[in-house]
Amino acid sequence: MDGKQFSDAVRSLGVKVIERPGYLQHNREGHGNWGPVNGVLHHHTVTKGTAATVSIVDKGYADLPGPLCHGMIAKNGDLHMIGWGRANHAGLGDPDVLAAVIAETTLPKPKRNTIDGNARFYGFESENLGDGKDPWPAAQLRTMAAVGFVLCRYHKWSERSVIGHLEWQVGKVDPRGPGVSMAGIRKATGALLRPVPKPKPPATAPKPPPVLHPVPLTTEARVALLEGRVAKLEGKG
Ligand SMILES: [Zn+2]
Repeated sequence: MDGKQFSDAVRSLGVKVIERPGYLQHNREGHGNWGPVNGVLHHHTVTKGTAATVSIVDKGYADLPGPLCHGMIAKNGDLHMIGWGRANHAGLGDPDVLAAVIAETTLPKPKRNTIDGNARFYGFESENLGDGKDPWPAAQLRTMAAVGFVLCRYHKWSERSVIGHLEWQVGKVDPRGPGVSMAGIRKATGALLRPVPKPKPPATAPKPPPVLHPVPLTTEARVALLEGRVAKLEGKG
């Protein structure tokens, strides 16, 4: 999916999207493949403060150059677009997990880190301390579902193509904390993919037939009617 097309689609869902200058060209091209993409990976940042977090995921670390994701989801639900293309977020993961994501079947537990996930997954970092205590606000969870929804709709994937870093790579715990679970994120993503149809409005009562008013008789008709009655009476008398 094109990066600009993606951010516009998320914005159209009512999410505030902040595009970092140059994000469409910010990637790890030349350090491995990008694509074919098979899914969406969610992370937490282990950072505090949105501005500091944006800077970290944009630049990365000395031993892990940025971008560290495609988009960073702040605690207030804003999506900061960081990069597009190959990003340093997924690392090596389990090929059986990748196979399950492609087949959209039940995920096995990751057992070996042997296959490059940065080529295969869109990645979203969400601002959270990652200590298992820092809560996940509803606005942030909504945007996590929104980004997965836009990508699944585009690629014709189900919500089973949305996984957490902890489901991909041995040794990872993200995302975690009060209010977040990958089952919950997938459920919310699926609800966007398959909105429940609104109940039909109650059937309105059938319109009563229009009342037919008798056509008033003309004067001539009334006179003729009376004349007839008089003639009858006279005939009887
Ligand atoms: Zn992660």
